[in-house]
Amino acid sequence: MITFDKLDKLDINSKPLHEIFQEYEDAHKRAKDPYIRDEALKRLEDMKESVSRATEACSFSFSGMSGLDSLKLKNIMDEKEGTDRVLFSSLIMKVIYYAIAILEENQRMGKIVACPTAGSCGIVPACILAVSEHFKIGVKKQVSALITAGGIGSMISNEVGLAGAVAGCQAECGVAASMAAGGVVCLLNGSNDEILSSAALALKNVLGLVCDPIAGLVEVPCVKRNGFLAVHAMVAAQMSLAGIKSVVPLNEVVEAMKEIGAEMNSRFKETSEGGLATTKTGIRIEEELKEKWTKLYSKDNL
Ligand code: SF4
Repeated sequence: MITFDKLDKLDINSKPLHEIFQEYEDAHKRAKDPYIRDEALKRLEDMKESVSRATEACSFSFSGMSGLDSLKLKNIMDEKEGTDRVLFSSLIMKVIYYAIAILEENQRMGKIVACPTAGSCGIVPACILAVSEHFKIGVKKQVSALITAGGIGSMISNEVGLAGAVAGCQAECGVAASMAAGGVVCLLNGSNDEILSSAALALKNVLGLVCDPIAGLVEVPCVKRNGFLAVHAMVAAQMSLAGIKSVVPLNEVVEAMKEIGAEMNSRFKETSEGGLATTKTGIRIEEELKEKWTKLYSKDNL
């Protein structure tokens, strides 16, 4: 599998990054080209299906904490509530809309592509699909972008476990933003250096992000956070495409993330024992949900 060390030994500009990642992954799986491209195409189709299901659904999750926020964004994008409430371009609006819709689909237990995790599954598809639609980019390039994003995620996962329980949300939504930024730069024909720089920019600006979901559910803050971090990825991609470089390279940003994750108090690593989960509201919601579940699974209801 591709690692930062292996990448470091290569002539980084010898070929596009997605080709380097693809060759390593094909070799790792002892498969022949186009195995990885075929697999990436299947995941891309899964992502597109999850977006189309997500954008048609209109129901709440079981907890009732999420479900219809994407519809609110859709309404405002369709100008049902007037253009004076739309702050961003249609592209950025779509990125936020897709990211939140996919997370809502996840909360309804619909099929999604974990990239890198279920809690951060909206960021990569939202950016890659919205940018591809906006610039009318073909499927071949979309697959290359997904392999690029996947390769970045793979290199990071070789260094640190990608889970809120291991290193906080920086390792989930932060890494997803890093992958998405690289994927977007690939879509827009950025160089390998620009791809890696965008990934570094995205990750280093969310270092320390904690995981503190209310009631232990991947819902609050996760659903809306995917909307925020998808835009964050777009900012990183835009900076990189404009020629702005990350002063600290991606591998060193990952080292910093690992150190911060190791030092992070366990209350902020998916245990729901601190942060938002233990606010007055967080505790109230958790208690209400416990009561709801107790009633639902009581003997009388079984
Ligand atoms: S807050 Fe925790 S559960 Fe939610 S997306 Fe981030 S890492 Fe995952």
